[in-house]
Amino acid sequence: MITVQGLTKRYGGFTAVDDVSFVARAGQVTGFLGPNGAGKTTTMRILAGLTHQDAGVATVGGHRLQDIPNPGRHVGILLDASAQHAGRTGREVLTLAAKTMGLPGSRVDEMLELVSLSDDEAKRRVRNYSLGMRQRLGIAHALMGDPQVLILDEPANGLDPAGIRWMRGLLRGYAERGGAVLLSSHLLHEVEQIADEMLVIGRGKIVAAGTKSELLASAGTFVKAVDTA
Ligand code: ATP
Repeated sequence: MITVQGLTKRYGGFTAVDDVSFVARAGQVTGFLGPNGAGKTTTMRILAGLTHQDAGVATVGGHRLQDIPNPGRHVGILLDASAQHAGRTGREVLTLAAKTMGLPGSRVDEMLELVSLSDDEAKRRVRNYSLGMRQRLGIAHALMGDPQVLILDEPANGLDPAGIRWMRGLLRGYAERGGAVLLSSHLLHEVEQIADEMLVIGRGKIVAAGTKSELLASAGTFVKAVDTA
């Protein structure tokens, strides 16, 4: 489970994430919805330990994130980080991650199989991957350490409808096995089909939160929140 309390991040005089608090429960998919620039990526980067907050606390399984050794074993993150790996092959990217996490090389093959990347594809450099292949590789990377928590920033980007169905099935299975999934999107229809609970962020602040039915019950407020977010 992820808990976030009072998370705040400022860039100069601009507050990108403004006193954000929420819980993403184990066994559930939590959708994180908001328009471009709302603060989703910044929040997720803080949860992954890639950006430092100015205030607030984030915990995973009750432990403060900064206190967790080898966080990749606890938090799997999918960001569009392919640029930093462009010159490596898919297999090299996963092998490096396995080594960093202290996992056996056989885990690389398991992950390639899970995301349906063939041997030939795994030998190609990431710079030559399609967006969909990069997303598959990113998901393999995120799941490598069998983390308790999975954070995905716009995972549907670049996936075709079959890829999106595949990813939904994978994430549902992961949540059913007890994982907590936090998944961002700027499109309501992408989130509502998979999420048990939803958070709506606008201009750095959480403007609505609840289960899909709770949000639909207060549809007026919710629609207004999405529109103004
Ligand atoms: P998108 O879907 O477009 O990525 P987002 O909801 O993920 O949107 P963020 O990327 O978190 O939004 O950005 C939130 C705000 O913070 C934006 O106005 C962005 O310009 C600003 N911001 C993000 N990173 C930085 C940075 N390193 N320096 C300055 N401003 C930043």
